Amino acid sequence: MPFTIKLDRDGCSGHARCAAVDPDLFPLDDQGYSVADGVVVPEGKERLALRGVRSCPERVLTLVDDDGNPVQKLG
Ligand code: SF4
Repeated sequence: MPFTIKLDRDGCSGHARCAAVDPDLFPLDDQGYSVADGVVVPEGKERLALRGVRSCPERVLTLVDDDGNPVQKLG
């Protein structure tokens, strides 16, 4: 089942480091803040998604599985 990206938008500082990893997985609004909350990760892009989540210096991004549990690493 697909993973989903979660975002604590209030903590986003607009660094755009996430979007630099993949602008489709981590879209920004026109002021440079993330609007990635709820983005469903396409099959095969899970590692890229985890890399993008980890790139956020504010730690406001999370990758969750279909039960809503955080994905910390991939097998
Ligand atoms: S890297 Fe983090 S703080 Fe920066 S735009 Fe992305 S979510 Fe926001």
